[in-house]
Amino acid sequence: MFKAIRILILLGILVTAAGTTLIGRWQAQSWKRPQVVTLYPINAAGDAATEAYLQRLDESDFARLEPYFQDQARRHGVALSQPIRIVLGRRVSALPPAPPRDRGVLAAISWSLRMRWWAWRETPPSSPVPDVKLFLMYHPPDFSGALPHSIGLEKGRLGLAHLFAARAQQGANEVVIAHETLHTFSATDKYDPATLMPLPPDGYAEPDREPLLPQARAELMAGRIPLRNGEARIPDGLAQTVIGPATAREIGWVK
Ligand SMILES: [Zn+2]
Repeated sequence: MFKAIRILILLGILVTAAGTTLIGRWQAQSWKRPQVVTLYPINAAGDAATEAYLQRLDESDFARLEPYFQDQARRHGVALSQPIRIVLGRRVSALPPAPPRDRGVLAAISWSLRMRWWAWRETPPSSPVPDVKLFLMYHPPDFSGALPHSIGLEKGRLGLAHLFAARAQQGANEVVIAHETLHTFSATDKYDPATLMPLPPDGYAEPDREPLLPQARAELMAGRIPLRNGEARIPDGLAQTVIGPATAREIGWVK
């Protein structure tokens, strides 16, 4: 009897969790009202140069994101005039849990749960209420080597974007923010994780172009502009990217 009750309760929790995820996805992808994406800057290393950059950061530094999503949505026939609203939230001083070093599924699930718990506790209040929370980890402008991998989670609708605290990198930063934002709307990556090369046709801005290479722009979820076989470059800004038909379908812009 007790066992049956326990199984029933567990089943109830599972069904509720699955239901909440489905309702969340349905709401996120119905595009009936603008989705509020709130950005929370974080000084990743606590250094003075990043601090000075963050002191001067304001909404104008993210002004190209809203019109970009607007243009791209219109191109795909979305009726809603403003699909995504970008809000600059307050700074967060606590650092998020470090992402897992091994690539196992369990480690990823555990990190995702800890990340959601951390976000729930550390997110400062803001208005309007965010639909998506994006934590912007700013690294010093002279940071050497590759930045840690940015992550956008559909479950929990939050993301972690690693950026450079440098004016010159603002365009590239915006591409990362837009890319991680779309992950929270269920868009998938369109590059080979081993080589980081965009995967045709969905990862190419113009898959029907003759000749196919070099491409002029990047598909946002592929993240790079394919130039030659085995060579691609990071776009300078959003103007050098497009949201392709496959991504538009994944996020519910095209039914
Ligand atoms: Zn990605």
